[in-house]
Amino acid sequence: MTALRWGLIGASTIAAEHMIGAFRANGGEVVAVMSANAGRAADYAKQHGVARATTSLAEIVESPDVDAVYISTTNELHRDQVFSAAAAGKHVLCEKPLALTLADARAMVAECRARGVVMGTNHHLRNAATHRAMREAIKAGRIGKPLFARVFHAVFLPPHLQGWRIDRADAGGGVILDITVHDADTLRFVLDDEPRSVVAMSARGGMGQGVEDGVMGVVRFESGLLAQFHDAFTTKFAGTGFEVHGDRGSLIGTDCMTQAPRGEIALRTEAGEERLVIDHENLYVRSARLFQDAVAGRGAPAATGEDGVKSLSVALSAAAAARSGAEAPIDLTI
Ligand code: NDP
Repeated sequence: MTALRWGLIGASTIAAEHMIGAFRANGGEVVAVMSANAGRAADYAKQHGVARATTSLAEIVESPDVDAVYISTTNELHRDQVFSAAAAGKHVLCEKPLALTLADARAMVAECRARGVVMGTNHHLRNAATHRAMREAIKAGRIGKPLFARVFHAVFLPPHLQGWRIDRADAGGGVILDITVHDADTLRFVLDDEPRSVVAMSARGGMGQGVEDGVMGVVRFESGLLAQFHDAFTTKFAGTGFEVHGDRGSLIGTDCMTQAPRGEIALRTEAGEERLVIDHENLYVRSARLFQDAVAGRGAPAATGEDGVKSLSVALSAAAAARSGAEAPIDLTI
């Protein structure tokens, strides 16, 4: 078996806008969708050509024609849904943040391992050709020793996504659990380095109601590298980017912290500036393909469950640092 038969847990925007298409682009089928609301489940199934709609988690995870589930509900629901799927022997691709606490995220990974199912975290950015090209350039020594990184991920949250993200801390709302987790995963991937501690300050710029809608901070990595990050829901014109500065060169990524396969990477050294050749590919199609391959016994998901625990740990420590004003250690224990 290679192509997977998917069950969707969550009638979400991300599934509609990206993942249903990504599963199908890899030859997969989307056979069922689960929503908490029967009418919504039925409408969503009809609109997206999904054969079955249900409100029952048990029904979807126990369906014999479902090989794997994609969990894209709000974040407080991920834990129990992963446990149910793993118990039923289904492979799990789960959205980020995996959970609201490290203990829950670790337990989810342990459960999938114990049940022998593949678990992936849907961190799309490490699937971007831009970030993969930066990682390769660093590994090839093209900037010498990496010393600093800068992540520009301040965006404007479009109105159709301004629901639970801006007013439900209990669902994992706020920019840190929404966007800083992605920065953490991308930094770990591009730098091939591990984060050790973080300082941060958060902001409320008028969109967040009871949650932060902006944050700036610095992560200290194992190698000594410092990475600065800036995330927001409130800036329409900031643009995105990802830079790594070494002692012999700099990689300047522009327009690359996005869901779309686009962006450019410049390499600046004593020899001048060159643009890296980027072979763009849909980020979510690649994520789905690597997950499908992992289920077939070929390699690992682009981001594993363990990667999801680590990105969550960085975000939770950033939130703690923003509250306390002190440098917070990052626990990478799985
Ligand atoms: P949505 O708000 O679209 O969906 C989350 C839940 O909200 C759904 O499961 C659904 O509940 C409910 N819902 C959605 N739309 C409506 C509606 N019109 N009316 C009533 N209820 C609705 O969230 P996202 O798709 O933006 O995010 C879902 C998950 O995916 C989160 O974990 C998020 O962090 C992650 N995400 C990841 C991205 C990535 O690039 N990796 C990008 C965007 C999100 P029900 O299922 O019960 O109907």
